[in-house]
Amino acid sequence: MANSKFEYVREFEQPDSLLRNTWIVVRVDGRAFTKMCARYGFEKPNDRRALDVMNAAAKAVVADLPEVTIAYGVSDEYSKLVSTIVSTFTANYVHCWSTYFPDTPLSFPLPTFDGRAVCYPTVQNLRDYMSWRQADFQLGGLDNKEAEKTLAGTLAADKNEILFSRFNINYNNEPEIFRKGSVVFRDYELVDPASHNTADAVDELAEPVQQSKTQNENDKKRRSKARIVVEHLDIIRDDFWDRRPWILS
Ligand code: ATP
Ligand code: ATP
Ligand code: MG
Ligand code: MG
Ligand code: MG
Ligand code: MG
Repeated sequence: MANSKFEYVREFEQPDSLLRNTWIVVRVDGRAFTKMCARYGFEKPNDRRALDVMNAAAKAVVADLPEVTIAYGVSDEYSKLVSTIVSTFTANYVHCWSTYFPDTPLSFPLPTFDGRAVCYPTVQNLRDYMSWRQADFQLGGLDNKEAEKTLAGTLAADKNEILFSRFNINYNNEPEIFRKGSVVFRDYELVDPASHNTADAVDELAEPVQQSKTQNENDKKRRSKARIVVEHLDIIRDDFWDRRPWILS
């Protein structure tokens, strides 16, 4: 209501815009999922159904928000670009739950997520962020605090041994989703990195290209028509990005 004596409360709203011309990463993380695991009997250390709900929710976010170019997730967390994502994610998580847990209905308190936004100025920073999440997951993939401590500072080979003795798991035979996490992106035609003209590659020092309104609209249309896929790939090495130049351009 305009001009009422209550309107002054608006002044408590602080500007919270994000830095221009940066890659915005929104990290979404399940609230108290350690308890969720016990409550709904998630299989340890990796429950495939629980990851599938996360992936379904992430896919729905990418489908709903064309500005989001890529999402990467492990465990109960998901990293992606652009804001107002947490609520879309949560709504879809709750909606998709029964598909993956048909015999375990949700009960109160319902699952919720926290989210934080970080701006990364260069493509390299963004790639390093994504690499950090994947490497962190691969090195510290064990959730058990005790196992985490045991593993701190141990070599990959020792880690495999501990995984085997504790969970009877041979890491090398584990499905890719447990080894690499999940990456969600729009699926256009793959580019052969060998024949890829480097002049077309993203030049991170260049000024951002000003797109016309029609270009932006065409872009948006193309994005909303594209198929969205969930894959379990190495996102640390160049190959993933070289073959999919549209993701970071
Ligand atoms: P917070 O609210 O602070 O995030 P949290 O209990 O969610 O607390 P996290 O550090 O986010 O703490 O850890 C999430 C926990 O849920 C980890 O122990 C992780 O292993 C477990 N978890 C998440 N997804 C799965 C899954 N698919 N299968 C097995 N365990 C899972
Ligand atoms: P944004 O995503 O930017 O918030 P918006 O379309 O939600 O866009 P708002 O300015 O938030 O725009 O306005 C919400 C609109 O929804 C208003 O027109 C409001 O009257 C209408 N609306 C919200 N709740 C109800 C309701 N319960 N019944 C009828 N109309 C509603
Ligand atoms: Mg409003
Ligand atoms: Mg957390
Ligand atoms: Mg959590
Ligand atoms: Mg977490």
